[in-house]
Amino acid sequence: MIDINAQQDTQLPLDSLIEYALKSNSFYMSYQPIVSTSNSKLIGFEALIRNRINDSRLRPDHLIPHLERTGQIIELGSWILKQCLVDYKTLESYGLKDFTMSINVSPIQIIDHDITIEISNLINELGISPKNIKLELTETALISDCNKIAKSFERLREMGIKVWLDDFGTGFASLSLLRQFKVNGIKIDKSFISNIATDNDDFTLCSAVIAMAQRLNLELIAEGVETSQQLQILNCLGCDNIQGYLIDKPLTLRDVINKWRS
Ligand code: C2E
Ligand code: MG
Ligand code: MG
Ligand code: MG
Repeated sequence: MIDINAQQDTQLPLDSLIEYALKSNSFYMSYQPIVSTSNSKLIGFEALIRNRINDSRLRPDHLIPHLERTGQIIELGSWILKQCLVDYKTLESYGLKDFTMSINVSPIQIIDHDITIEISNLINELGISPKNIKLELTETALISDCNKIAKSFERLREMGIKVWLDDFGTGFASLSLLRQFKVNGIKIDKSFISNIATDNDDFTLCSAVIAMAQRLNLELIAEGVETSQQLQILNCLGCDNIQGYLIDKPLTLRDVINKWRS
C-alpha cells in the first residue's frame, strides 16, 4: 500500500488524487469467487476494482459514483473491461476451465459510449467464449435512458454475452425493469441476505425473489453471504449460486491462481 497523504498536513484534492492514481498505474482488479450453493463448486468470479494507494476516497463505493459524474468512468471502464478479459485468459492458462467472469459496468458506458463493439472486439481478439462473460448493471442507475440500454442489451445477448441486474431489490423499479429489459439473471442485494436467518420479513422477501426468478427462468446469485446459516437457508430456498466472505473475499489474480486452481 502506498500512503501518499502520510507526509502531508492536508489531503490531496480528490481530482488530483484520481489523476495520480491513474498515472501511477495503481488500479488493479480483484476477483471474488462465486460458487454453487449446494456443493461449493466454483462457478466464476466477480471483478471488483481496487487501488494500491491507501486512501478511502479510492474505494469503489466512493470512486465509481464520482467518476460517473465526471465522465471519467468511460476511460477507466474501458481499462477495466480489457484487464478483466486479459486476466480471464491468464486464469485459463493456469488451468481454470469454463468459469464465468462478472464485470460491473456503469450505465454511462452504455449510454454515452457504445461498449458492445469494444467487448466484441476484445473477446474475438482474445478468443474468449461470450457465454462466460456476465455484465452487471445496478438497477437504480439503469433508469436514465431505457431505450438505448434495451437496444444495447439486445445486441449483447445476440453476441451471447449475459446481462445481469445487480443489487436487485434496492432500487425503486426492480420489477418494471425486469419487464423492460431481458436480463439473464439477478443478484439479490446483500442487504436482504444479512438478516435472512433472524428477520422474518427479510426471509419472506428473499424467498419471494427466489421463487419469482425461478418462474421467470432467471439465473440467481445471492451476494454478501457471510454465515453458514445463511448458506443453508439459501440452499433450501433453491438459490443456485452464492458469493460472500463465507466463501472468500475479493482476491488478487495471484491469490486466485494459488487458491482456486483445482
Ligand atoms: P457490487 O457490484 O454490488 O459488489 C459487491 C460488493 O460487496 C463489493 O464491494 C464486495 O467487495 C462486497 N462484498 C462481497 N462479499 C461481501 C460480504 O460477504 N459481506 C459484505 N459486507 N460485503 C461483501 P466493493 O468492492 O467495495 O464495491 C462496491 C460497489 O462498487 C460494487 O457493488 C459496484 O457497484 C461498484 N464497483 C466495484 N468495482 C467496480 C468496477 O470495476 N466497475 C464499476 N462500474 N463498478 C464497480
Ligand atoms: Mg456487482
Ligand atoms: Mg451487488
Ligand atoms: Mg452494490
